[in-house]
Amino acid sequence: MTGLADELLPELLALAVPLEIERQAGAEPQVRIDYARSRWERFQQYGGKGDKSAAGARLTGGAVLVTGGKGSGEEFTILAQVLGALAHQPGGVTAFGHHWCANHAECEEAAAAARAVLREPEGGERT
Ligand SMILES: [Zn+2]
Repeated sequence: MTGLADELLPELLALAVPLEIERQAGAEPQVRIDYARSRWERFQQYGGKGDKSAAGARLTGGAVLVTGGKGSGEEFTILAQVLGALAHQPGGVTAFGHHWCANHAECEEAAAAARAVLREPEGGERT
């Protein structure tokens, strides 16, 4: 990744994803999962002739998000929406150098449970 993706994208997502987490907080879990899936499918669509977004820009599956240009705003929005939905899943989501979750205490509990499972039977911990 170069340019926008390297420098601005993680920082912009750091602002946008928490807003999405809050916006989606009242949704039922399955509704959020379905929403994330449908938005991700939209993100991945390569714009062909006649494939226009509501904003009139063709999506590129992330290419314009990296390079900038028409459609990059919608791709950014979709990415933030998907990450916001995933943040409500157990363990949250980690991407672009950030960790987002709706309840970090649950992340810590899950990590502790995983460490307990991975301990050797004699009680020694792996390092
Ligand atoms: Zn967390």
